[in-house]
Amino acid sequence: MTESADLFAELPEDVLKGVTDLGWSEPMPVQSQSISVMRKGGDLIVQARTGSGKTGAFGIPIACEVDPDLHAPQALVLAPTRELANQITQEMEALGKHRGLICLPVYGGTAYGPQVEALEKGVHVIVGTPGRILDHLGAGRLSFDAVKIVVFDEADELLSLGFWPDMKEIRSYLPEKRQSCLFSATMPEKVLALSRAFLNEPEFISLVEGHSSPTEIEHFFYLTTAQEKEANLRRIIEYEDPESAIIFCNTKDDVRFVTAFLQRHGLDADQISGDLSQVAREKAMAKIKAGKLRFLVATDVAARGIDISDLTHVISYSAPESAEVYVHRTGRTGRAGKAGMALSLISGLDVGSFRNLQKVNRIQVDERPLPTEEDLLARIRERLANKVEQEIRHLSPRDRQFRIERLVPLVQSMAESAAGRQELAAICGSYLEEHRPETTIPAHEPEAAPSSSGATDESPRERRDGGRGRSGGGGGGRGRSGGGGGGRGRSGGGGGGGSRGRGGRR
Ligand code: AMP
Repeated sequence: MTESADLFAELPEDVLKGVTDLGWSEPMPVQSQSISVMRKGGDLIVQARTGSGKTGAFGIPIACEVDPDLHAPQALVLAPTRELANQITQEMEALGKHRGLICLPVYGGTAYGPQVEALEKGVHVIVGTPGRILDHLGAGRLSFDAVKIVVFDEADELLSLGFWPDMKEIRSYLPEKRQSCLFSATMPEKVLALSRAFLNEPEFISLVEGHSSPTEIEHFFYLTTAQEKEANLRRIIEYEDPESAIIFCNTKDDVRFVTAFLQRHGLDADQISGDLSQVAREKAMAKIKAGKLRFLVATDVAARGIDISDLTHVISYSAPESAEVYVHRTGRTGRAGKAGMALSLISGLDVGSFRNLQKVNRIQVDERPLPTEEDLLARIRERLANKVEQEIRHLSPRDRQFRIERLVPLVQSMAESAAGRQELAAICGSYLEEHRPETTIPAHEPEAAPSSSGATDESPRERRDGGRGRSGGGGGGRGRSGGGGGGRGRSGGGGGGGSRGRGGRR
């Protein structure tokens, strides 16, 4: 306790005043462990959950480091959502209040004017989502030449929202000599790939009980009632937006039911069960292998022995009947060095045996609250804003102007009628479907040279027009298969809907 209290006592007076104003009398564990490492200037990876006090863990060192007399961005915090960006900004402004710290949230889906004005006046810290930040960088309204510290907050979320290509591009604007710190609730291989591209010999701090070693498969379960199971499945799918998944059921009836349910909701799903002819089964398997089918619904028996790698998600619609079954199921993802996610829908009755299965398999499966309607809408909105941001960045100023002058009134008039709103919803749905982000990055991105400290393999600015290529285009050689249009199903991702789930937030 004394040692912890000392940590705050060692802070510069003006920062300590900010800390005291917030009513923080002693550091939280993540702060005790991270602040001194960060203040020494080393790179850092921290595994800590939301709510653990991690904003203070990086906010305090940033506040200490910033020179208030230098009116240029000296720290960059990348966050996956605008809500989080706002939250971080507020806390950092409070921490740095007596130092005159100016922090600007920068994210898409909002007007440019106030952001541009604030940038012109000069700010010390940029907190935001990658898309809009790149937009300002590309237009020369923002420079990272004076940035000393870069923080990736909720790095796993940043990646699951498909920000990886943008983050790589941001890297080309960052000075080579800088401190980089990464905070993430989970440490799948995709997060480590990110760390390899940005961090130099980082120290690793974990505040999560149980095993903290990097895992290639993330395991989560959701508690659900039997009655709401299919509605919750759809909700989870909409929230997670998997590139490809196999959905396991325990009976052939369930396979038929779930497949029909997903298809009815416009999702690209097919089934394999013992009922089907060998030819029909092989056809479905070939489709998912080729990336032309998004969801394959199967019983364990029907899926036995089939070699499908590269699935981003394995979903247990029915609880696995034994520990071995769970291992077989989840082995369908996280292959070939890629990160994967195993999600299970568990009813109250199955919780006991599911916990037991974790013990037998020595796998930690954390519970995740079901996304609420608000979570879902916020997530979809976020995806839409990110995609639009990426899109318009490549437009000439004239084309942008055209869109604003011509299309905004159109959208306004459409939104006035029910029919128009439906059309807009359909447009959003197909747009999201066509622009699904890549949710995983290869464990070993070829260009992510180990311990490169951002010593990038590209010269600054070089990538700006050449490098990115949306929809699978150029760099990195990954691309989600689907690049060549058409293969995937229609709609689905869009319009909200869905029945109600239990509470919870992320
Ligand atoms: P975060 O994980 O950063 O979202 O923080 C979770 C909550 O803990 C926020 O409401 C913070 O204001 C609060 N908090 C952070 N650090 C401290 C501290 N040292 N003492 C008390 N509360 C804190």
